[in-house]
Amino acid sequence: MTDQDIKEIKALLSAPKHIVIVPHKNPDGDAMGSTLGLYHFLTEQNHTATVIAPNDYPDFLKWLPGQEHVVIHESDKVRAEALIAEADLIFTLDFNALHRSGQMETPLANSDALKIMIDHHQQPDDYATYMFSDVAMSSTCQMVYHFMVMLEATAAIETKIATCLYAGILTDTGSFRFPSSTSTTHIVAAELIDKGADHSEIYNAIYDTNSFERLQLLGIALKNLKILPEYRTAYITLTQEELNASNFRKGDTEGFVNYGLSIKDVIFAAIFIEHKQEGIIKISLRSKGDFSVNEFSRANFGGGGHTNAAGGKSDLSLNETVEKFISILPSYKHNLNL
Ligand code: 5GP
Ligand code: MN
Repeated sequence: MTDQDIKEIKALLSAPKHIVIVPHKNPDGDAMGSTLGLYHFLTEQNHTATVIAPNDYPDFLKWLPGQEHVVIHESDKVRAEALIAEADLIFTLDFNALHRSGQMETPLANSDALKIMIDHHQQPDDYATYMFSDVAMSSTCQMVYHFMVMLEATAAIETKIATCLYAGILTDTGSFRFPSSTSTTHIVAAELIDKGADHSEIYNAIYDTNSFERLQLLGIALKNLKILPEYRTAYITLTQEELNASNFRKGDTEGFVNYGLSIKDVIFAAIFIEHKQEGIIKISLRSKGDFSVNEFSRANFGGGGHTNAAGGKSDLSLNETVEKFISILPSYKHNLNL
């Protein structure tokens, strides 16, 4: 983002606007934290801002300040699309290709509103008027903080904004353990604590609110875990039946994939989750070091993300998807055996 961009954005925001803020489909902590953090910031400055999420988000985020005002496109299409049609300005946060907003892709593409992208994923598409894209960033929430610094508006950051942004940094950095958590990330986190984020309460609200069923499902996932030592790879499968038996709720499988990566010598972990309703297998991929799961997913499973965390999907059955995955590994052997 250039100085000129910032100047123009400051001018844009100097008078009240109708603003829509959009996270990606299946929003995670960073997507909801960044959109809601920005929502409070813009609302305080007399804009009419609305967060419109493509679909619902997990229960462990349903305490974030302002989340009760989020409009869900999937279940409230008419209202969501009227808001998009009225918008002067649309922020797209934590994604960089309009198809990542699912069914919102067409209304967003058809809108004449100016678009501002704030995102840290690889290979951004070229749809935004203003683009703040940086793959080195820990999280979109950290970038929203930097955006407020660029606007010389950090004085406006109060407890609600700080809480939302801290929550997204916490989740996207795996509680500050991923390599993308830099000293700057910690400084931003410290600033947010000084501005009212209660780090202990936020951690508790996100991570220590498991249901009994979720822990049972984790037990099943861990039983299904397989290791392929020659590829330093581990994977987990979950069938729709297994999800149903544990009374699956959105977000219940969040973080399961990391258990594969916690095994000694494993540097590549996957989870394959059957979604009967959508007719797909949702795939989450994680890695350690230089092995790029973004490239792996783009090449084989129509997805993408970051070097060490990416997602994708498959139209094959669960068994066929796993067979495909295993059959591809030999061609990555030299990348995995480093
Ligand atoms: P997760 O595995 O937690 O769903 O996603 C890991 C990372 O990859 C997140 O940053 C997420 O935004 C991104 N991601 C997940 N699924 C997809 C996908 O289908 N396409 C792309 N481009 N990115 C994805
Ligand atoms: Mn993110």
